[in-house]
Parts: sequence; structure tokens; C-alpha cells
Amino acid sequence: MQVDTKSAGFSLRSFIYRYPLLFDSRSAGDVLTKRVVAECAHPMVHEGRCSQCNKSMGNDYGIPVKYLQRSLRISRVHAQRIRRTRTRNITNMKKLHLVLDLDNTLLHTIKLAELSADQEYLKEIAVPHKGFSTGSELFLGKKSITKLRPFVREFLREASTMFEMTVYTLGKRKYGKKMARLIDPEAVYFGGRVISRQDCTKKGCKSLDVVLALESNVVIIDDRREVWPNHASNLIPIEPYCYFSTKKKNGREDDEQALTSILKRLRKIHACYFSPRLELERIKDVRFLLQQIGN
Ligand SMILES: [Mg+2]
Ligand SMILES: [Zn+2]
Repeated sequence: MQVDTKSAGFSLRSFIYRYPLLFDSRSAGDVLTKRVVAECAHPMVHEGRCSQCNKSMGNDYGIPVKYLQRSLRISRVHAQRIRRTRTRNITNMKKLHLVLDLDNTLLHTIKLAELSADQEYLKEIAVPHKGFSTGSELFLGKKSITKLRPFVREFLREASTMFEMTVYTLGKRKYGKKMARLIDPEAVYFGGRVISRQDCTKKGCKSLDVVLALESNVVIIDDRREVWPNHASNLIPIEPYCYFSTKKKNGREDDEQALTSILKRLRKIHACYFSPRLELERIKDVRFLLQQIGN
């Protein structure tokens, strides 16, 4: 989903053509008409300037969506419109949205220097990052080593049939992208939807404000509740996966169990949301379903 930033200038028209899923024909038509240009609502701001009228808007206008395009911000009104359109498109495909944390949720990474003496051998059996071997679970970077959580590949494969997935990490963008490549080498699950520390609107906090989907349709999986202060009702907390920790209390079985039971819960939520039963028809909100379904 990355836009070629080297292309001369930034055109709203090309943005719409590049992200057709983000728009319906009506909103795309609206922003492309001259009428809107005449009374510009500054829907998109690129490098501090409105993409339509070129007015200087500063660097805290609207909502940053830097993971889609560097220096891109969208007005709040326009962002909500995009959320509605995207969620409608996704719902038409019988899918909900799933936001996944990386560290201690899908995988565990530590610095090589932190490996204990009896873990040193792991460096020898790990696959270099560039290998992207879909069969491997242990990866060696220049300065770090990563172990995927057991069952993670099966989890992603199954979850992708019910959810459009986004990675959301408080790690740096480069790290997030690298890890996304390890678990999704063909970019079939996440596409360009890798949100990282640089995209957050509040330091140290995650928020759905930068996710272009309606909150009612987003399920979050994260091992840290505290980083989601505004979205506790969207969250399914997961037991942290700490493969390299020497003080580890849970075994391999527990590590695998965590994603298996979450997948079960996701299946239930999906089934309820899309259930044709009349009494459920009015309750199209995963926050409500999460509360009702329990474990
Ligand atoms: Mg985490
Ligand atoms: Zn403007």
C-alpha cells in the first residue's frame, strides 16, 4: 500500500486511484469535483500543505496516517468518512477488522547481547532475516533474535479468513515492517497496514484514531492492556509470550494455547456478528459481542 514518495508532487486524484478501497465512488467524486476545491475542506494534508488548495496547514492538522504515506494527514471529518467506507467494504466481504500487537503477542525479540550462555546455541540454528523461510520460527537479525509464537502462522491464516488485519506496535517502524515480513513474507495478511511508534498520536499509547476502520468493528489483541487506555472494550488481552526469558513460568503448551483460545473467541465473535438471527441484527458491535461472549 506504500505510495511512491519519489513521484513529483502529491496528487489527491492519484491517491484515490491508488487506494480505491478507501473510498466509495460518491466520496471520491466529491473530493475530485471543482466545487470542493472552491470551498476547500482540506481533506488531505501532505507535508504540511493541503493537497487540494495548497494552503499551509501545519503539522498537527487532522489525523496522521504516515504508515500509508510519509507526511500524510487526513482531516477528522474525512477520516471518519474513510472509516465508514472501508468498514462497509470489509463487512460486505463478511470480515471484521483485527489489530494485532507484535512483541510478546505474536513473537518475542531480544537483543543478542541479552541471550544467556545456555541460549547462545540458538544463534546457530536461527534463520537469517533475509531467509524469510515460511517454515522457520527462529530468526536472526544483526543485533537481535526473534522467536515466533507457536501456532502463529496457523492463527494468521485462519484469522485472515474472518478479519482484515493490521499490525500495531510501539516498536519503531523499521522493526515493525521487518517483523511483519517475517510472519507475512508475501504481504498477503497486512499489506501496508503496519502501524508503529512513529504513527502514534500520544507517546507510549496506542489508539484506534490512526486505524481507518470503525471502532465498532475492530478487535484488538495485545499483551498490554495499559497501552490501550481508550479502547479497553475492543481488546482481548493475551498472556505475554516470553520465549527467551530465563524466569519463564509458563511452558510451550501455554504459549500455544493462548492463540488457540483467542482464535476460538474470534470465530465466535465473527459468527455472532454475521449471524442472520434477527435479535442480533441490531447489535453489530464487537465491543458488545466481546462483553457477551466472554472466554
Ligand atoms: Mg506487546
Ligand atoms: Zn485545502
